Amino acid sequence: MQLVLIFFIACLGLVIGSFVNVVIYRTLTGDSPLKGRSYCDKCKHLLAWYDNIPLLSFALLGGKCRYCQKKISLQYPIVEFTTMVLFLWWYLVGFAFFRLTQEPLVYLQPLFWLTVGVLLLIIVATDLLSYLIPDYAVFGLGLLALLYRSYLIKTGIMNPTDLTRALIGSLVLAILFAAIILLTKGKGMGWGDVKLVFVLGLLVGWPRLVVASFSAFFTGAVVSLFLLAVGKKRFGQTIPFGPFLILGAVIALLWGNAIWEWYWNLL
Ligand SMILES: [Zn+2]
Repeated sequence: MQLVLIFFIACLGLVIGSFVNVVIYRTLTGDSPLKGRSYCDKCKHLLAWYDNIPLLSFALLGGKCRYCQKKISLQYPIVEFTTMVLFLWWYLVGFAFFRLTQEPLVYLQPLFWLTVGVLLLIIVATDLLSYLIPDYAVFGLGLLALLYRSYLIKTGIMNPTDLTRALIGSLVLAILFAAIILLTKGKGMGWGDVKLVFVLGLLVGWPRLVVASFSAFFTGAVVSLFLLAVGKKRFGQTIPFGPFLILGAVIALLWGNAIWEWYWNLL
C-alpha cells in the first residue's frame, strides 16, 4: 500500500514537473501557460499525448523530436525529475520532519516548502536559460514567506523579533546588492537578483541569510573560476547569479545554524 502511494506521489510530481516545464518555456516566450496544447519548439509540430509522457517519452524518443528529429532540450527531463524528487521529499521527509508541530501546520509546512521548491526551480531554470528572474515567482515567494511567518508568529511558534530581524537583514542585503550593481554597472548581477535576495532573506531568516549570501558568493566564484579554467567562459563574461543565491539559501536552510556557530567558534 505504502509503495503504491509513493509511486502515485512520484507520478504526481512528474505531471506537475511537465507543467512546470510549460510555465518555464512560456515565461521565456511570453505566452500564457494555460493556452493551447504543447508543440515542439523547433518545428512547431503539435505533440500527441504519447510524446508528452514525463521522462518516458524523452527516453523512448532518444531525446529527439518524433517529427523533426532535432534534439529536445535537457531542461525537460531535468525539471521533471527534480519536481518528482521535491514531491518525494515532501511525502517521505517533509511529513516526518514536521511531525512534532500541531495541526494544520503538519500539512501546511511541507506544502509550503514544496511550493517554495517549485518556484525556486522555475527561477533557476529561467535564469540559467536566459538570465531572467520572473517577477511573478519572486513576488509569489515573498508573499508566501510573509504569510507563512505571520502564521507561525500567530500560533506562537515563532518570535515576532525573528521576523523584524529577517526584514532588516533582507533590506540590508538588497541595498548591498543594489550598490554592487551601481558600482560594477550591472556586470555581476541584475535587479532580479536584488529582489530575489530580499525574498530569500525573508525565507531563511536571520542569521541564516548571512550564511546564504556568503555561500552564494563563494560557490559563484568557484564555478566562475572553473568555467574560466576549462575555457567555457572568457574573463568579463557573466554567469547568472540567481541559481547561486538559491543554492546558498538551500545550504543555509539545511546547515545555516551549524555553519554560523562553527564560524563564531573559530574566532
Ligand atoms: Zn520537432
